[in-house]
Amino acid sequence: VLPDLKDKVALITGAGSGIGRAAALLLARQGMKVCLVDLKDDRLKQTKQEIESAGGQAMTVEIDISDPNQVEQAFEQTAKTWGRINFVFANAGINGVLAPIEDMKSEDWDRTLSVNLKGTFLCVKHAIPHMKEIGGSIVITSSINGSRTFSGFGMTAYSSSKAGQVAFAKMAALELAQYKIRVNAICPGSIKTNIGENTQPTAELEKIKIPIEYPEGNQPLEHAPGQPEQVANLVAFLASDASNHISGTELFMDGAESLL
Ligand code: NAD
Repeated sequence: VLPDLKDKVALITGAGSGIGRAAALLLARQGMKVCLVDLKDDRLKQTKQEIESAGGQAMTVEIDISDPNQVEQAFEQTAKTWGRINFVFANAGINGVLAPIEDMKSEDWDRTLSVNLKGTFLCVKHAIPHMKEIGGSIVITSSINGSRTFSGFGMTAYSSSKAGQVAFAKMAALELAQYKIRVNAICPGSIKTNIGENTQPTAELEKIKIPIEYPEGNQPLEHAPGQPEQVANLVAFLASDASNHISGTELFMDGAESLL
């Protein structure tokens, strides 16, 4: 049975697609008012329409989560519209440019770290003023790439950002416990989403001559990539009071893929 989230307010980044979209639909179905955050994109409006036609309540804010002022404004607008913020899903992310380390351009490294890691920091930073009086829950989408599984070469920037998100979640959980703000990282394995659109492999990857093939989507439990809706179930649990003793953890949701 999924938790009742009636009358709570959520801000969800990356809500136009994939995991963020699935979480937004589920949280709204469970009674949350949801602020959908993403880059300017028609898909964001589609998520809003879907929520509203199912009887839910949603607003949209189009920003780049790596921009400090835009992130602050997104939180302000949400609090102004719905009166409070109880839950933040810091989920937007990119695979970015994939290249061998010696060919990785510094600006490409920066972009991946800036969206995935700095974007997460900014979402947590700007959530605090809205949550410190009332408590709250924050979930950060990391990945099994942050700690365990190889999933293709050229992903040093991505993996570093995902590992950084886990460390950040743990430190934030300690620091924010005094405000009863819980912070957890979730680590999905391969999930069927549109992340390929934000993946830019380079020709230089051919230079890496190590004969390891990533068993794409070969998860022991399902022999296929997971679905965003499966991740959304975990997000709803972490958003709810049913998880009120869970903070500072990294939770794998990967059909046992990280054990390969
Ligand atoms: P997706 O591409 O379907 O969705 C990501 C969304 O984030 C998109 O709508 C995109 O527009 C948005 N976004 C990207 N950069 C942004 C920015 N700078 N500002 C605002 N929004 C931005 O991909 P997804 O798989 O749903 O990815 C969600 C998260 O899940 C990411 O953090 C990703 O690293 C993580 N993840 C994905 C997988 C997977 O296999 N799909 C596995 C592990 C972790």
